[in-house]
Amino acid sequence: MKALLLVDLQNGFCPGGNLAVPEGDSVIAVANRLISDGGYDVIVASQDWHPANHGSFASQHPGKKPFDLGELSGQPQVLWPDHCVQGTADAEFHADLNVDEIDYIQQKGENPAVDSYSAFRDNDRAALTGLAGYLKAQLITELDICGLATDYCVKFSAIDAREMLPAVDVRFISDASRGIDPQGVKDAISEMRERGIDIVTSDAILAD
Ligand SMILES: [Zn+2]
Repeated sequence: MKALLLVDLQNGFCPGGNLAVPEGDSVIAVANRLISDGGYDVIVASQDWHPANHGSFASQHPGKKPFDLGELSGQPQVLWPDHCVQGTADAEFHADLNVDEIDYIQQKGENPAVDSYSAFRDNDRAALTGLAGYLKAQLITELDICGLATDYCVKFSAIDAREMLPAVDVRFISDASRGIDPQGVKDAISEMRERGIDIVTSDAILAD
């Protein structure tokens, strides 16, 4: 069984959003092609879903501004602008995304005391989201991952997938993803490759 995981294709990470990823909206059309013609049995989407007082927001750390380095749950933490607050337009999926075909939505980042880049577990690795259990129950053997942003939520999701679903082949779809920092994207791709995640493009998947 083949699954596609679409990471955080939300307004907040697209141009005009509170934590816009450069060209973030350009992946929506690619994602829609993968949804309709990628041959997937299961389509899953993650959704960054923060309370207004989330600890990853610079606004919660006196004297800090967005993109400063701070600390959260005992770990270094990039402090972000307020983004993807539950119930706001910023947290909604991009309006052009074909959400009708999504079988399962995994919300994350709801605990104000810890961030959750990965769709599988919090950054302190203490709390699981439930996504690994869902994919196991679907008997998934192949998992393709793409979305926003390559150097944060996509990378951590892919690495956790490899670790938490050791029997599953994991691939990263590069042209269906965009990152925040160009060097961060390069480093993320090297790191994913080192961990046994194949790097593919949507053309190769759609041609199969
Ligand atoms: Zn977030």
